[in-house]
Amino acid sequence: MESKKTCDVCIVGGGVAGAALAGYLGGSSINVVVIEKNLTEQDRIVGELLQPGGVEMLERMGLQHLLDGFDAQPVTGYALFMNGENFQIAYPETNGKLNTGRGMRNGKFVQRLRDNMKLQQNVTVIEGSVTGLLEEEGRIKGVTYKTKGEDETLCLNAKLTVVSDGIFSVFRNQLSNPQKKVSGHFLGLVLKNCELPYPNHGHVIVAKPSPVLVYPITSTETRMLIDFPGEDAPRKGEELKNYLLNTIGNQLPSSIRNSFTEAVEGGKFKVMPNHIMAARPVMKEGGVLLGDSLNMRHPLTGGGMTVAFTDVYLLGKNLLEIADFSKSAEVSSAVAAFYKTRNSQTATINILADALYGVMRNEDLKEACFNYLKRGGSYSQEPVSILSAVSRDVKLLIRHFFAVAVYGVKNILSPFPNGKRLMRSYNMLKDSVSIIVPLLRNEGFTDVNRLRAKL
Ligand SMILES: Cc1cc2nc3c(=O)[nH]c(=O)nc-3n(C[C@H](O)[C@H](O)[C@H](O)COP(=O)(O)OP(=O)(O)OC[C@H]3O[C@@H](n4cnc5c(N)ncnc54)[C@H](O)[C@@H]3O)c2cc1C
Repeated sequence: MESKKTCDVCIVGGGVAGAALAGYLGGSSINVVVIEKNLTEQDRIVGELLQPGGVEMLERMGLQHLLDGFDAQPVTGYALFMNGENFQIAYPETNGKLNTGRGMRNGKFVQRLRDNMKLQQNVTVIEGSVTGLLEEEGRIKGVTYKTKGEDETLCLNAKLTVVSDGIFSVFRNQLSNPQKKVSGHFLGLVLKNCELPYPNHGHVIVAKPSPVLVYPITSTETRMLIDFPGEDAPRKGEELKNYLLNTIGNQLPSSIRNSFTEAVEGGKFKVMPNHIMAARPVMKEGGVLLGDSLNMRHPLTGGGMTVAFTDVYLLGKNLLEIADFSKSAEVSSAVAAFYKTRNSQTATINILADALYGVMRNEDLKEACFNYLKRGGSYSQEPVSILSAVSRDVKLLIRHFFAVAVYGVKNILSPFPNGKRLMRSYNMLKDSVSIIVPLLRNEGFTDVNRLRAKL
């Protein structure tokens, strides 16, 4: 192997996080190399609803223009459906300004991010696969890679290697102690010319046995994601088709049923596993994790890209402040500061995603949650401010989470308590605690035993 090049920052993977970081570092004096294994546009069902908090992060990095020009759709709030009832919750305003998210084709958006990084004079983009991280005496010194279509393995030395190789990362083990768990799968369909009951809204259908998400991704296309709980992916075939048409189809709002049936009959399904993986980074000189290789949560709340852009912003800002990239201590402290501060900005997104998924899998809790949000005012506005990542206040999230459970208890016990109702209420409270406590622990809130004792 021959050492071909040296750079300040090598980014492994030019997807959502990697390409955004390259764009943010663009125009600086930092010499950046991005190695991406496939630069062609992908047809993916992931990362197609960007919450307003993610849009805000792009604005902070001067990258918000990348949301224009590819038919991305503004999203202004959420609509919830359950047992024939429905209601809408608008995203909150900040200082009189409406916060909006975007529905989009992920592949098109990633190409926008990539086109932008290719324009940057200080960024070199290589189409090729990283085959290993160069590690010497506990320090990451760069990568080995193969350019597309070539057999030769090359070396690239880097003062910092940013690993952003996504959901199936093969390098995260070298930079963290991950505990990855599959909580289910999403089956994705594209509905054509579908009339959404609430245009420009994310739709959550609180179906049985588990939720369905619907949102616009272009002016003529609507994404539907159907949850399949458990570790096994749904098997394509007639049985699946029947399940979709009969069990799921009957629970959908009537205005979308025809386009749903057409999409199912068309048979173009894509299936992806949904992971939960808390960030457990290990500080190693010369290396840092970003995006899904660092941290994953259930996609129910569409929070992944917002976490990724928050991390890109926090890490990128620290890197831009480094006066001399050859001083490894400066690079290490920029990385350490990123790992230390990120949690305060990403914890609510991570906790809410899997807490809400837990709620959706529990009959009593999901009914309580639906009815709680339906009350409107701060009962819906504050939780949606967390969902949209406009607010990142963990206390607010915990307060609403338990308020939902207490509200559910009140409803179960009325008009009068009896033994069976008391037992149901007790179980619901217990389930709430067992949903939220591990999620709080994942985010570093270790003093949760006191909370458990109180309840
Ligand atoms: C079913 C599903 C739905 C989702 N929906 C949403 C949503 O609506 N909203 C949202 O915000 N988030 C959503 N997410 C999460 C979101 O997609 C991710 O958080 C986000 O894409 C993470 O970005 P990333 O850069 O880490 O990974 P990616 O965008 O996947 O980028 C990783 C890149 O690394 C490249 N790569 C991999 N290995 C190598 C290698 N060895 N060498 C070179 N390159 C390599 C890949 O080709 C890829 O381009 C969803 C996730 C799932 C599973």
